Amino acid sequence: MAMEIILLGPPGAGKGTQAGLIEEAYGMVQLSTGDMLRAAVKAGTPVGLKAKAVMEAGELVSDDIVSGIIGDRLDELGSETGVIFDGYPRTEAQAASLDEILKSRGRKLNHVIELGVDEDALVDRITGRYTCAKCNEGYHDRHKQPAKDSVCDECGSTEFKRRPDDNEETVRTRMAEYRGKTAPILPIYEERGIVTRVDGMGGIEEVASSIRAILGAPPK
Ligand code: AMP
Repeated sequence: MAMEIILLGPPGAGKGTQAGLIEEAYGMVQLSTGDMLRAAVKAGTPVGLKAKAVMEAGELVSDDIVSGIIGDRLDELGSETGVIFDGYPRTEAQAASLDEILKSRGRKLNHVIELGVDEDALVDRITGRYTCAKCNEGYHDRHKQPAKDSVCDECGSTEFKRRPDDNEETVRTRMAEYRGKTAPILPIYEERGIVTRVDGMGGIEEVASSIRAILGAPPK
């Protein structure tokens, strides 16, 4: 049976980065509601039009919208493909919807991995981050600049982009949303004995190795 995992943690904890690494190593698929919503905003779809202002304010998009897009995306995947939920669920209602969504598709959650990080470090991480506009390689003003000034190390592009919600004020709102609405869903999964907490303050490889220890050896 396919493995299903949730990566939980405040904005900037490294969920997206780690989901990408798990995807590569384990042949699973990352479902990021943030990425899907950003794509919808860019494409100007009805969902995107509804979500844009809410996202720019750092508040949460409605439970129905995000659970709807998660269900739709799961239906596009074969039942043998495992999923990494990144940035979903974020409220108790979404956690309840996810249970239904998985059950009706014969899937079951195996692990909830919580990435723990210090809030001031998060603001530093988030407000400095940017990506290559072409290949999406991640960079940081203070911690990871391209080897050659303003040229992407991976693809040579000279265009970069920043998320409009990566400013300090919005980041503080996003953290308050995490503390108030998302962190309270952890006990639901703790009761099931599937939560493991990982220190997200370590380097990318260190965190990845702790996650591999939880998931077991990747398939060859
Ligand atoms: P993220 O990329 O996960 O940080 O998400 C960026 C923004 O998209 C959030 O600040 C929310 O406005 C919205 N968003 C993403 N995922 C969800 C979700 N599961 N529920 C509600 N809003 C979400």
